[in-house]
Amino acid sequence: MFLKRFRPYFNYLKPVKVQFGVGLLAGLIYAASSGFGLPYVTKHLVPLVTQPDKPEATVLFGYLALVPIMFALRALGSFVNAYFIAYSGMFVLEQIRRMVFDHIQRLPLAFFHKNKVGDLMSRVLGDTTLLQTAIVRVVDSLIKEPATLLAAGGYLVYLSFQTEDISFILLALASIPACVLPIRFIGQAIVKKATLAQAEAGELNHVLNENLSATREIRAYSLEAQQSERFAETCARFLKQSLKVVKYDKALTPIIEVVTAGALVGALSIAIQRDVDEGALASILVALYMCYQPTKKLGNVSNTIRQAEASLNRLEYVLNKQDTVPDAEKPTPLNKARGDLKFENVSFQYADKAVLQSVHTEIPAGQTVALVGPSGAGKTTFANLVLRFYDVADGCVRIDGLDIRQISKEDLRRQIALVSQEAILFSDTIANNIRLGNPDASDADIEQAARMAHAHDFIEALEDGYETLVGERGSRLSGGQRQRISIARAFLKNAPIIILDEPTSALDAVSEHQIQAALEELSKGRTVLIIAHRFSTIQHADRILVFDCGQIITSGTHAELYSSNALYRSLYDKQSKTALEN
Ligand code: ADP
Repeated sequence: MFLKRFRPYFNYLKPVKVQFGVGLLAGLIYAASSGFGLPYVTKHLVPLVTQPDKPEATVLFGYLALVPIMFALRALGSFVNAYFIAYSGMFVLEQIRRMVFDHIQRLPLAFFHKNKVGDLMSRVLGDTTLLQTAIVRVVDSLIKEPATLLAAGGYLVYLSFQTEDISFILLALASIPACVLPIRFIGQAIVKKATLAQAEAGELNHVLNENLSATREIRAYSLEAQQSERFAETCARFLKQSLKVVKYDKALTPIIEVVTAGALVGALSIAIQRDVDEGALASILVALYMCYQPTKKLGNVSNTIRQAEASLNRLEYVLNKQDTVPDAEKPTPLNKARGDLKFENVSFQYADKAVLQSVHTEIPAGQTVALVGPSGAGKTTFANLVLRFYDVADGCVRIDGLDIRQISKEDLRRQIALVSQEAILFSDTIANNIRLGNPDASDADIEQAARMAHAHDFIEALEDGYETLVGERGSRLSGGQRQRISIARAFLKNAPIIILDEPTSALDAVSEHQIQAALEELSKGRTVLIIAHRFSTIQHADRILVFDCGQIITSGTHAELYSSNALYRSLYDKQSKTALEN
C-alpha cells in the first residue's frame, strides 16, 4: 500500500507512542459508534416511532437516549483522535525538519554548487510544511474512516445474517473496487504533478532569494522591471503546475459520489424487492451513508498522501546525499598542530574541469606565504583543499606530516582560522560575532581580541558598544569594520594556521592601514596563507607562490621574482599602475 513509502519514518513515533495509542483508540471508538452504533440504534428506534401501538416509555426513551450518547461518543472520539494523531504527526515532522537541517550543515561545499539556495529553503520549509498539512489531514481520516467503513460493512453483514439474505454483503463488496480504481488512477497522476509543482515552488523561492540578496545591484542597474517579469514568469509556471494538482485532486469526490449513488439505488431496489421493514431500510441507508463518507475521505486522503510523497521525495533527495568528504573511520586525534603544511603532488578537479595539477610545495610552520596569479589560476582552490572543503583527486595534503584525511574535520578545522574576502557576520551582537572564534571566551578575552584586531576603538564609539546589533550579514557596519571583527574572531580562535582571502574592494586608507596592522599582528608565530589580490600585502610575505593554470610555476621573495619571472613582473606592474591611478 502507499503507506509503505512512509514506513521508515514510523520509528520516529516511539517517543510519542502513548499519545499515538490514545489517538488510535479514540479513532476506534469513533468508528464503532458511527459505523455500527448509529445504524443499530436506527434499526430499533424507527419501528418504535412508526408502529401504531404506543411503545413502552422506558424502551422508547432508552433508545432515544442512545442517539445523543452515540453522537457524543462519536464527537469525543473524533476530537481526541484528531488531536493526538496530529500531535504525533507534527512531532515526527519536527524531527524530519531538524534532520534535514542537520544534514545540510554537514554536506560538502560541492553540494551547494549544484543546488540553489532558494530551492533548498523551499525543501526545508515548503516541503516540510506540505508534509505537515498532509499529516494533519491524513491522520484525521486514516484510522477512523477505514474503521468506520469496516464497522458499517460489519453492520450490513450483521443485517444479512438477521434477514438471512446475503445481497447486502455483496452490494457492500461490489462498490469497493468501483471506488478504489479511480482513487488509484488519480493518485498516480497526482504524484507526478505534485513533484513538478514542488520543483516550481523551489524555483520561485530561488528567484525571490536571488532578488532579495541583490537589492543594491537591482536598483543600480535599473533591473526592477526585468526582475518583476522574471518573477511573474516563474509564478505563472508554478500556478500552471499547481492547478494540475488541484484538477486531479478535485475530480475524485464527484466520481466517488456517482459510484455511491449507484450503490445506494442498488441497495434500495434490493430492499424493496426483499420487502424489508422500514427499521431495517432506514438502518441500511444510515450504514450506506456511513460507508460513503469514509470512502470519499479516504479517496481525498490518498490524494493528499500522494502529494506528500512528492514532498518526501524532495526531502529525501537532501537526506540521502552522502558526505563526499567523510571523516576517517578511526581519525588520528590532533589537539594543537605546529602548523607545517605540505602539498604532495596534489591534483584536483571540479566535475570534469582540472583545476590543480601536481602541485607540490612545503610551507614550514610560522611562514607567511602569499598566493599570487591571474584570476582563475587556482589560488582559492589551493586554500580550500587545506580546509578540506573538497578532497584532493590525487596526491595528499599534510599538516605536521599527517594526511589531513586522517584527521577528523572538526580537529582539522580547529587548527585553521579563515578570514574571508567578504567578512560574514551573523545578525547578532558584535560580542557574539567575535565569540564564534571560541564559544568559551570571556568578555575580557573578546575585548583583548578586538584590541589586537584594531577594532576596539570603533566598537567602543558605537552607542551600544560590544552589544551593538550588526544587522543582517553585518549590514550596519562598514566593510572595513566587518573585516576587523572577523580578524578579532580569528585572534580569539588562536589557530596555528591562518587562511586569509584578501578583500578586493578598495577600503578607505585608514581602514586598510588598520587591517594591515591587525593582520601583521595576527600573522606572528602562525602559518599564514594569503590569497593576495593586492600587491601591497605581499611585500610582507616570507615567500610568494606564483600560480598559473592550476600549477605553481615558481616561488620566491618579491625581489627574486620581480627580477626573474615575467608573469610575476607583469602582474605586479599592472597592479602598481592601477593602484597609482586610483
Ligand atoms: P583563483 O582563486 O586563482 O581566482 P579558483 O581556485 O577560484 O581561482 O578557480 C580555479 C578554477 O576553478 C577556475 O577556472 C574556476 O572557474 C574553477 N572553479 C572554481 N570553483 C568552481 C566550482 N565550484 N565548480 C566548477 N569550477 C570551479
